[in-house]
This record gives sequence, C-alpha cells and structure tokens, in this order.
Amino acid sequence: MRAWMLHKMVSLDEQPSPLVLQNIPNPRPVQHEILVEVSVCGICHTELDEIEGRTPPENLPMILGHQVVGRVSSLGKAVTRFKIGDRVGIGWIYSSCGSCEYCRTGNDNLCRDFKATGQDRPGGYADFMTVPENYAFHIPDIFQDEQAAPLLCAGAIGYRSLRLTGLTDGQRLGLTGFGASGHLVLMLTRFQYPHSDIYVFARSTKERQFALELGAAWAGDTMDTPPRFCHAIIDTTPVWKPIVEALRCLEPGGRLVVNAIRKESVDQDYLLKLDYPEHLWMEKEIKSVANVSRRDIAEFLGIAAEIPIQPEVQIYPFLSVNEALMDLKQSRIRGAKVLKVH
Ligand SMILES: [Zn+2]
Ligand SMILES: [Zn+2]
Repeated sequence: MRAWMLHKMVSLDEQPSPLVLQNIPNPRPVQHEILVEVSVCGICHTELDEIEGRTPPENLPMILGHQVVGRVSSLGKAVTRFKIGDRVGIGWIYSSCGSCEYCRTGNDNLCRDFKATGQDRPGGYADFMTVPENYAFHIPDIFQDEQAAPLLCAGAIGYRSLRLTGLTDGQRLGLTGFGASGHLVLMLTRFQYPHSDIYVFARSTKERQFALELGAAWAGDTMDTPPRFCHAIIDTTPVWKPIVEALRCLEPGGRLVVNAIRKESVDQDYLLKLDYPEHLWMEKEIKSVANVSRRDIAEFLGIAAEIPIQPEVQIYPFLSVNEALMDLKQSRIRGAKVLKVH
C-alpha cells in the first residue's frame, strides 16, 4: 500500500516536505482488530507537533493521521462489532489498558497506557490501517466521509473542552484561535447554549470574519478587550500570548480551558507578563484538556448529527499532504483540512 512516512523529526521552517511516500506491505488485522481501507484522513495541528518533535512518535518511521474515515475491509478472528463494508471512524485514542481507574470511569484519555493513533501506532495517511474494534466508531449516515473526519478530533476535543468549561446557558464563552476546532465549538455552543454570547479572539481578519458569519457576537484580535468579560474561554492556539490575554478577559471565578497537547516555545517569555491580580486573582482557574476519550467521540458524533454540524472543509489530494501541512502551519486555509485517500 501507499503510505506517507515520517522518518525523522524536523523543523518545518527548514524542511517543508517532512513526509515521504513509500510502498509498504498492507497491515493485517489480528484478534479484535479490523482492517480499514482509508477514504479520508483529517489533518490536525498535532501532526505538526509530531513532525517537529514536541510529541515524538513512539517509533520511527511512523504513519501519521488520526481523523480517519474508511470502510472495514477485513476482520480479525475475534471481531464482533463490525462486518466487512461498514463505514467507521477512528480518532486520536487508538487503545488504552481498559482496567485502570481512568479507563473504568470513562476517562480513558488519562490512561497511562494510552496509545495514540498516528503517533504510537500507524495512522491514516495511508491506503489501509488496523485498529482494535472497540476504538472504531460508526459514523452517522448524515455525514459524508470528508465532513465526518474533522469531527473525530477537532470536533470531539472541542466537545470535551466545552464540557470542561462548566458553562451554563446564558454565560459568555470566549474562543482564542479559530481553526478547525474553534469553528466546530462555535456551532456546538450555539446549539447547546443558545442564550450564550460567543466572543472570538483571532489574529487573522479572515478568521474573525468567518467567526462573525457563523454567529459570534463579537470578534477581535488576541490583544483586544471584548464588550464584556467571559465566564469561560477555550484556547485552541499553539502559543502562550493568548493564554495570558485570555486570563485578563475572564470574569471572577471564570475558567480558562487550554485545548492543546503541546505549546510551542516561540513566545514562552510572554508568560512573564502574568500579573497575579490582573490575570489570576478572583478565583480564576486554568484547566488543560488531555485529549479525547471514547465517550467524547461517540457522544459528539450523535450530537453533531442532531444539530447537524456542517464542518467547513478544505480537501487536499493524497499526494499533497506536505502542502496541506504547510498550509496548516501558516493558517492559510479556513476551517478543517482533509486528505482524500480514496
Ligand atoms: Zn487531532
Ligand atoms: Zn487505563
């Protein structure tokens, strides 16, 4: 099969074509695994973290990609949940131990034996991949493959982030950064909390315009002050400045939820601007999001179908993966990016 392989971690500024196309043997499903013929694979900011070494893959070379939609093409002997031809989705959670306190309470994303798709195990930038059946999801019929892909990570992690804000209807929500996850959270929030105003902080005027089109009550630059402070803010940026500025814009008792697996170090010294009375006092809280649990993906797919959410998607041909990654790095395209494999 064809597979895009990451052989070594590099800086994208120095190496704009980090993935190499190769022909390798098809994987074979064993026991509870299914073999999936990949239709599309979403492109996520975490791939940039893997390539640049902030979240190094467990082994190299590695096939990246963790927002996979495809069809079951072969079954391990013990599979019971799927049959050949079923359409499935695969997200960041590839497997977990199943028996620790986190797995038993639905927080399998916090499991110490958590394995990530496309980082610890081969992912979806390839013709085929295998996955344990309990970590694959049925996709509601309403979605086309390319629309479903960004729901599996950007959408599901947005859903978890929104849950962790503790927001109630009518409270104001801020979003810093407005990429794949931000635009899906905005749609979700308007559905779940119809009386809440949503304020969007984004660097680019294109992103701010997009946010207003989708129903944001206000959109401004990272440094701007919104009309009123927010009860909760979700940060989806890769850097530090928006964190400090978001804390400034929180109501007393407000919560900042940081939806990122890693932060880049380029502007880490911005944290020195952190002023206790302005940014942290008055019982403000900061909470990170680890990644997604199986429950998040399953619940979110159901809610997304009910709304229904229509993700804004930019499709790239399979051979253009490196170009897609660079577009993501430079925030050149709005909405979510999806690689078309078949
Ligand atoms: Zn992702
Ligand atoms: Zn566990």
